Amino acid sequence: MIRTESPLASNYLAIDLGGSKLLSAVVTVRNVDSFPRAVLSGISKRPLHKDSGRNGVWSAILSAVDETFRNSGFEWKDITAIGATIPGVADPQRGLWVYAPYSGIRDFPIAEELATKYGKPVFADNDVNACAWGEKIFGVCQNVDNFLWITISNGIGGGLVLDGRVYPGKFSGAAEIGHFNVVEDGALCGCGRHGCLEATASGQGVARAYREHVLNVARGEGTFTPSLIDGWKNFILQKHQTLDETKAVRLELESIPSVDAALIADEARKGNPLALFTYREMGGYVGRAASWAANLINPEKIVIGGGVAGAFDLFYPALQEKFQKYVFRQANQSLTIEKTGLGYEAGLLGAVSLAYDNPYL
Ligand SMILES: [Zn+2]
Repeated sequence: MIRTESPLASNYLAIDLGGSKLLSAVVTVRNVDSFPRAVLSGISKRPLHKDSGRNGVWSAILSAVDETFRNSGFEWKDITAIGATIPGVADPQRGLWVYAPYSGIRDFPIAEELATKYGKPVFADNDVNACAWGEKIFGVCQNVDNFLWITISNGIGGGLVLDGRVYPGKFSGAAEIGHFNVVEDGALCGCGRHGCLEATASGQGVARAYREHVLNVARGEGTFTPSLIDGWKNFILQKHQTLDETKAVRLELESIPSVDAALIADEARKGNPLALFTYREMGGYVGRAASWAANLINPEKIVIGGGVAGAFDLFYPALQEKFQKYVFRQANQSLTIEKTGLGYEAGLLGAVSLAYDNPYL
C-alpha cells in the first residue's frame, strides 16, 4: 500500500473532565491513509475533589490549559476548536453540564463559558458518549457505523453509535448497560437498586466479589470446589513462603480491605485461582448483559474500554462463553467484541473527536 499523508493538520484543545482529575492537551489531527490520526502534546493534569464545586473546576481548567500551551509550544491562533468531556449528565446540544451526582454540580454552561473565555467554538458531551465517538473517529470502529461502547471502571457506562451518529436517547440516558439487572437481589448499586451489572462487574464490584470469595474460603463457606480451595491455599503459601497456612490465610484476610481490581488482575496473572475465578465470574455477567444489548440493537461490534479493560484477557473468554450462550446467534453471526483502541488517553481522544467531527451536527 502506498502511504499517503496529508500535509494538512488541524489542532484542537481537548479537556477531559473526570470525577477525580482533569486532563488537557493540544491534539493534532492529520489524515493518514484516509483515516484521522491524533498526536497529543502538552498533557496537563489537575486533581478534582468531590467538593471542588463549579469555581474549583473552572480554575483547575484555566490553570491546566495555561500549562498545556506553555508545554506544547502551540498558541491559541493554531487552535481550530475545543472539545470537552463532561462527567455525569450532559446536554451536548447546549454544551451544558446538567448534573454530576458525586459533586452536585448542576446546570454549568461549560461550553458557553469556554467559548467566551477563549473565543473558539466548543463541543462538549458526556464522557462515555464522547469515548464512543472517539472510537469511531480514532479507534477500532473507524469503518463501523453501529456499535455499543461499554466502559468498565469504578462504574459501568455505555455509549451507542447507530447509523454513524451517537444515539443519546430522549433524555440523554441511552445505553445505561450498567443498570441491567444481572443478579436478583444482588449487591447494592449506586442507583439504589440491587444486582445491577455496575454493582457486580465494575472495578468496585470485582473487588467486593474477591473479598467475599477470600472470606468464604477462609471460613470454609461458599460452594468452591476442593481443587480451587487447595489451589488458592497453595498459591498463598508460595506467596508467603516463610509462613504456615494459618498465618498466610490471616495475612490475606488482613490485606483484602485494600485490594482493588488492578491488584486482583495482577494476582490472577500470577496464578491466584480465586482472582482468576473472580474475573471469569465478572466476564460472565458482562457477557450476559452484552447479549441482551446485542439482541436489542444488533450492532456490528461491542467495544470495551475503561480502566478495567486492562484485564480484558482475563475476563474475555468467560464473557464470550456467556455471550454466545444467550445471544440470538442467527442475527448476530458477525458481531465481534473487542478491547478499545483508544488506550489510556481515551477521554482526551473522545473530547477531540467531538470537535473534529461533531456527531450531533
Ligand atoms: Zn444500578
